[in-house]
Amino acid sequence: MAQFTDDELLAYVDERFSTDFCAVVEHSLRRNSSLCERLATLLSLRDHGDFSVGELWRQYRLSCPPRAVWAAYIEKRLGDGLSQYLQFHVETIGCRVCSANIDDLKRQDTSTEAERRTRKFFQSSAGNL
Ligand SMILES: [Zn+2]
Repeated sequence: MAQFTDDELLAYVDERFSTDFCAVVEHSLRRNSSLCERLATLLSLRDHGDFSVGELWRQYRLSCPPRAVWAAYIEKRLGDGLSQYLQFHVETIGCRVCSANIDDLKRQDTSTEAERRTRKFFQSSAGNL
């Protein structure tokens, strides 16, 4: 039987990790009533304001960039450092909220490549000259 930390159980509830990880937790919860009781206790503590700084950080998704940053990421308008962080955030950590944001932004971006290049030009410093 898989062992989970308190943080991993709460991450399952908050859907902060990949669907594969959440499936493993769910499978364990279905077979282990003491694990369900432990999760219920954790949720009760959290609902009654027993927060750590880390819990507040995760609950309010402070490490998740705003949607405008993801739009810039998709259009490759960001520097290497920030782009690498964002890639790590969605690909390694597997943030499902940000992945959904990216998917949504990609669906909305129906402009042609020429329109995107023009917009990119005017958003750069060259467009301000
Ligand atoms: Zn995120």
